[in-house]
Amino acid sequence: MAFELPKLDYAYNALDAHIDALTMDIHHSKHHAAYINNLNNAIKGSALETQGLEEILKNVSAHAPVVRNNGGGHYNHNLFWKVLSPNGGGVPKGDLADAINKYFGSFDKFKELFSAAAATRFGSGWAWLVKKDNGELVISSTPNQDNPLMDVAEIKGVPVLAIDVWEHAYYLKYQNRRPDYIAAFYNVINWDEVGRRFKL
Ligand code: MN
Repeated sequence: MAFELPKLDYAYNALDAHIDALTMDIHHSKHHAAYINNLNNAIKGSALETQGLEEILKNVSAHAPVVRNNGGGHYNHNLFWKVLSPNGGGVPKGDLADAINKYFGSFDKFKELFSAAAATRFGSGWAWLVKKDNGELVISSTPNQDNPLMDVAEIKGVPVLAIDVWEHAYYLKYQNRRPDYIAAFYNVINWDEVGRRFKL
């Protein structure tokens, strides 16, 4: 079955104070759609058509670069839309808040480290909050459309939170000011969804 572009849970202009409507529109309807289209074309008629996306990514080193780039692109954007919300922001709660305090010392320290990972990723890529197999929370960043599910990732685990730092994610509103986009991102983080993913 071919992969499909998911509908967003909110309107393109719903995050406008922090991520503008035109960026959201192009990012979802053009960039994400292109990853899906390229992925579907790449796996058409192959054994990968019967695999789930996570299964494909976990063995991605065995597949062509087009599968790594576009399969990662599809997974990463699915996650990104879900961890954004017009009702987002604030601070994490419950078990997730406890784990952030345990592994980073405080929420402010977590923000400092996550922001630094996002700001210092050279070129295009992502920063991640990752839950490792032993339950530990760590921050990482990956180039291009790689992610922590991939067997090629330096730090592997369940992606809990992600920020897209490709220029297409912020350039219309923030131009070269990636740190301003990163700071604004905290106002739209859907901590309920991040907390749900933390328990996966
Ligand atoms: Mn993107």
